[in-house]
Amino acid sequence: MIDMDVPAWGGGRAVVSLTQARKSYGGGSSLVTALAGVTVDFYEGTFTAIMGPSGSGKSTLLQCAAGLDRVDSGKVLLTGMDPRRLSRRALTELRRERVGFVFQSFNLMPSLTARQNVELPLRLAGKRPDPQEVAQALADVGLSDRAGHLPSQLSGGQQQRVAIARALVTDPDVLFADEPTGALDSRTSREVLGLLRRMVASGGQGGGQTVIMVTHDPLAASFADRVVFLADGVVTDEMAAPTAASVAARMAGLEAGLSAGSNAGSNASAGSTAC
Ligand code: ADP
Repeated sequence: MIDMDVPAWGGGRAVVSLTQARKSYGGGSSLVTALAGVTVDFYEGTFTAIMGPSGSGKSTLLQCAAGLDRVDSGKVLLTGMDPRRLSRRALTELRRERVGFVFQSFNLMPSLTARQNVELPLRLAGKRPDPQEVAQALADVGLSDRAGHLPSQLSGGQQQRVAIARALVTDPDVLFADEPTGALDSRTSREVLGLLRRMVASGGQGGGQTVIMVTHDPLAASFADRVVFLADGVVTDEMAAPTAASVAARMAGLEAGLSAGSNAGSNASAGSTAC
């Protein structure tokens, strides 16, 4: 098991926690084990990147951690609650009020303006959007002057920033991002990642936003406080204070099946890989 008491985020409350989480798809000869016993905590006010080779279980981990899918066994705690023990309605409320999502494909409503897209989660929750709150969310992502634009009138980076404003307008405890820069060029990616970084650094009252991001891009991961590496459905390693070069090197090892610091070495590497 990885030692999570790493000073960079020591003392922080775990907002999301998985313990021996297992998840398989299919059955019989077509059984695929996506998560083979994942134990990991994600701490309040930190930015974590999840990386690993294709098929290593990253998206499944994100889906299960966010309460969008259920583990077969083991435990998931999302803001202190176990999604498997919640009624369908309570789970919907948990996802709506405590969790934000950002996807690679932005998922904005094409017929709604930026402002209306940001208002949407509030309306879906049966609330009357506070114009000032919505304006602030758009200002936070630097899009005050684009509030009346449709998604088709915005660049990819601007659309993703609207999606981030939409995800954060409900003031969620945790923001899950699945390849948020996967459809963006490198300059725009940096803008979006810088924005996520600032959200974590500043956040609202009582501390920064918690962000958990799946990415395959070492540069994207370098914006995080910490990288958790997956291979074959288990956490093999983690890295503090990542740089694009150090993450790329670790990924090359994982992809070659030579995961540096895996198994017996993982405890030691958890606290010593800032490079
Ligand atoms: P990653 O995000 O790292 O690429 P995934 O979590 O998407 O990995 O997938 C992990 C494994 O589970 C892969 O072998 C994938 O083919 C399998 N898998 C994921 N989703 C499904 C599904 N809905 N049905 C069957 N197999 C799936």
